[in-house]
Parts: sequence; C-alpha cells; structure tokens
Amino acid sequence: MSQVFFDHNSTTALRPEVLEAMLPFMREQHGNATSRHSFGRTARAAVEHAREQVADAVNAHPSQVVFTASGTEANNFAIHGIASNLCHGQILTSAVEHPCVSRPALAMQSRGWQARRVDVDAHCKLDLHHLHNVLATPTNLVSVMLANNETGVIQDLAEIVALSRQYKALVHTDAVQVLGKIAIDFADLNVNAMTISSHKIGGPLGAGALVIDKRVDIQPLLYGGGQEKGLRSGTENVAAIVGFGLACELAVKSLATFSQHTQRLRDLCETGLVQLGATLFGQQEKRIPNTSFFAFENMDGETLVMALDRKGFAVASGSACSSDSTEPSHVLLAMGVDKDLARGAIRVSFGLENTDEQVQQFLKVLENELARLRNLTAVAA
Ligand code: PLP
Repeated sequence: MSQVFFDHNSTTALRPEVLEAMLPFMREQHGNATSRHSFGRTARAAVEHAREQVADAVNAHPSQVVFTASGTEANNFAIHGIASNLCHGQILTSAVEHPCVSRPALAMQSRGWQARRVDVDAHCKLDLHHLHNVLATPTNLVSVMLANNETGVIQDLAEIVALSRQYKALVHTDAVQVLGKIAIDFADLNVNAMTISSHKIGGPLGAGALVIDKRVDIQPLLYGGGQEKGLRSGTENVAAIVGFGLACELAVKSLATFSQHTQRLRDLCETGLVQLGATLFGQQEKRIPNTSFFAFENMDGETLVMALDRKGFAVASGSACSSDSTEPSHVLLAMGVDKDLARGAIRVSFGLENTDEQVQQFLKVLENELARLRNLTAVAA
C-alpha cells in the first residue's frame, strides 16, 4: 500500500525538473559563487538568475532578495536584523505566528525590547482593535503572517500595514505558506520585509529568502565573508538556490491550476468532514486553497494521526513544525477554542498530485478509524 501525502504545508516533494536543474551544481559545476575563475562565475550567474526568478515570483526587484538557508532563518533575520537597527521599543507579533517569528521576538526582550502579542478572533483573523490599542505604546516593528500554516486563514495585511504606518512602525510578514498557493505582490503588500521558503513549493530544503524593502536598514544575523551584500555571510548553497529559483518560476506558472485543484479537493473533503461531525476551524474566512484544519469531540489528534498513518494517509496534528509537542495548538488556543477540542486537531493540506479518489478513500478510512477508536475508548471506560 502506498502512502498518500496530505501534509503539503509541512513540506513538499522536490519537483523532478528542479532536481534536474540542481544536479550540475552538485557535480561538475561545483564552484564557489565568490570565486573569480570560470567555476565561480558560472555559480554566480546561476545564483543571480535564481534571484531574478524569486523576485519575479513575488513582484519584487532582484536586489531586494536576500537568500537564507530557510524560512526560519529569514524570520529570525527580519526580527533581529530590523530591531537591532532601531531604538528599543515594542515588537508586536500576532498570537498565531509560527514560533520562528514569536520566539525571536521574545528573545529580543533580553536586549531591552518589549515583545507583545496581538490577539486574533475566533476565526484566526487579527483583532484590529487590539492592534490599534497596543500600537499606542511606541512600536517599531509589527510582524503578522500573510496566511496561517494551520488554519490557512489569510490576514488583511493592507489594513494592518495602514494602521502600523500611522504609528510609524515597520511591518514584516511571513509569507511562507502563501508562496505558490495564491499570488503574492511584494510591492503591493507595501510591507518592509517578507519571508518565503523553498521546500514548501517543490524546491529543495536549505533555501529561503527575506525580501527587503530598500527603505529598511537591517543588520545581518550572520557575519563572515560578506556574501549577499554583507547581509548574509556564508558560501552560497548554489544548488539549493538554483532549485529555489526554478521552483518559484514553476509555482507561479501552476498557480491557477494549484488553486482550483486543491480547493476542489478541500471542499470535497470538508463536505465529508462535516457529515462525520467535525468542527472546522477558520472556514468562514478567506484561506489559502489547500488547507483544512478540523477536530472531532473526544478524539485525540495524535492518536488519530497515527491511526490514519497506519491506514496509508499522512496528515498533521496541529503545527507539523512542533509535532513533538503534546500541547494543543497555540493557534487554536489563541482563537479561543476549547482545550479538549484543540487537542483533537488534524490538518490536511493538499498538493497538485492528490486526487478526488484519495480524498474519498480518506473519508472512508477516517469514518472507520473514528468508529474503531471510539469503540476502544468505550470498552476501556
Ligand atoms: N513560517 C511558517 C508559516 C511555516 O509554516 C514554516 C514551516 O512550516 C516556517 C515559517 C519555517 O520555514 P522553514 O521550514 O523553511 O524553516
């Protein structure tokens, strides 16, 4: 039995074309992009071409793209790097950020900064009244994700940016879960910095980027040989960057197909989930098309994930990036979801290769597993 992968928000398979494009840079074209000889110049040209592909994918200028090793690094870079160039003040993050935004913000407290979380409502949308209130305390940086990795809910960034600007705060957004799912226009978003990551869109692990508005002064996180115009030292991971560039180009080309296909699968899935008695989270809001987050009363999410895995379906419980934690999803708790229900949360996130048949099969398996697990609990009681 082959496993069905319904966990594309955690990572994606490398696209075959991407692997093909990367291979020469791990074999014969193994130059260091800072070397002056022909190997180095070939590597440099490949990195700069990838920079253009990444910039084109998000409507930014290539000079605004700084390559990093991951989305996590880009988020840390944004928070530490922007804050380090400003006077101590307040950093605001939404209550539903990925830990690679909330933790660096908290870490800045030891350097004299105040880190504060802005509430979300029951549907995972930022509470703009709360944002307004907390902005009354002098704030230098606001970081709010474009879409949440668990619920898929998309924030009204235009309003968040407008409000933050009134208080002269800079804005960073984590767009890791949006790239390749809906169109991103960096210029139009009008944020000061934006994070993206390669392995969520069929690119390799080991590449990400911070897209930085030229008006922003930012300090490097890593010092050394001065690569990336001194903003991110470290010999460029040429193969990964080349793969990231091509993955961006391909993701943009397949955007409409991805959106239509995964939304159809999600709608099909959610219709079945409701019939099985699931509570769906964030479904009333605008979401990225491929994500569904739900829970069943009196059902442990981890147990269900393991049971579904044994039956051939890979899904996530809460945030995949913190799946070693037994605490309920901080996103659901911030949305005011009851702790017991939150413990049952399951996320499915579809990709282009998933099919209607897989979703129908999943719903059947889920129904059987729910019945079996409930039976076991009843017998044990
Ligand atoms: N931001 C969000 C919203 C994510 O979902 C993730 C990973 O799941 C990250 C950042 C981290 O990105 P990376 O895995 O490239 O470090």
